[in-house]
Amino acid sequence: MRRSSVPDRRCTAFAPGRVNVIGEHTDYNHGLAMPFAIAEGVTVRAAALADDGEPLIEAIAIDLDERDSFPLERPGPAEGWRAYVHGAVAELGAAGHRLVPARLEITGRVPLGSGLSSSAALTVALCLALLELGSDHADAGGRSLDRIALARLCSRVENEWAGARTGLLDQIASLFGAAEEAMCIDFQSLDVEPVPLALEGWRFVIADSGERHVHASSGYNERRRECAEACGALGIESLREASLEDIAALPEPLERRARHVLEENARVLEAVDALRAGAIREVAELLSASHASLRDLYQVSTPAVEATVERLLRAGVAGARLIGGGFGGSVLGLLEPGLALPAGCIEVAPGPGAHILAR
Ligand code: ADP
Ligand code: MG
Repeated sequence: MRRSSVPDRRCTAFAPGRVNVIGEHTDYNHGLAMPFAIAEGVTVRAAALADDGEPLIEAIAIDLDERDSFPLERPGPAEGWRAYVHGAVAELGAAGHRLVPARLEITGRVPLGSGLSSSAALTVALCLALLELGSDHADAGGRSLDRIALARLCSRVENEWAGARTGLLDQIASLFGAAEEAMCIDFQSLDVEPVPLALEGWRFVIADSGERHVHASSGYNERRRECAEACGALGIESLREASLEDIAALPEPLERRARHVLEENARVLEAVDALRAGAIREVAELLSASHASLRDLYQVSTPAVEATVERLLRAGVAGARLIGGGFGGSVLGLLEPGLALPAGCIEVAPGPGAHILAR
């Protein structure tokens, strides 16, 4: 039986996707990355349901025209988008947050599976909406939240409920984003430092290489294992503790992998400085340097990705790099002011971080 909603308890939460400007394969090495929240995100409209039977969560994925319903107290395993809803309810409950029976309507504008993290946008928006609805005071789903704790919780939802191996980058970027700002994340201290993002007409663009490599996840896991092996050989916890001198004696390919990570961390700091100085062309050059390192040292590029980078450079981007784990996926480019969007590209513009849109 369908329950009536309680009219005075509703809210709308928004959480953005993200693009990682620079700092690839650094998160699991306790390094640095510089993402920004994009304008597109996922919106969850939530309404409390009357508490007159078994407390339920009803969810509707409007874009997919699919529904779900499950007991608030006992979310079980689920597939696809439902896994994020079950996981968000389960993890918030396990963390001691008060939740109420609710109907959740999900809509999104982040392209799925394009490296813009629609999954983090979905998870963060769900959590913000559920927290806001379950809170007795006005601000619980908003500013006073411990956003690092919430990023960890959202990451558990992705890891343990949706089966996606991700670090904290996507969730932190969605939760800490701000209009006209990127951020520098230090994955050792989990410090998040805002970086001004005044693009002065430059545009970030994304092109899909068209390749979804079947071995993508195993390649990613192999790189993680190689980094762990390098740490083992050096007797350190993470590559953050190593210097270029330390890694010089590592056997190949470990030296190459470690050198990418160390130099990529340095490029992130250079990109932060360049943005602070308004030197966008330098950021573009750092993108290309990052790509060369991902191709030659980390060895995660493919012919399809190389062709996509070449195509963007011919269309006038001043710098481009593969984004995400590699072995296929998307390419990020920085397009000079006044140039037309290359064919098949989408523009990604910075936007605000996750927030409550309406109460
Ligand atoms: P990415 O995060 O790179 O976009 P993922 O495969 O990690 O790709 O996450 C995509 C998944 O997130 C989709 O398959 C779907 O389950 C879920 N998702 C994202 N946006 C929506 C949405 N608007 N409605 C329903 N599910 C969504
Ligand atoms: Mg994802």
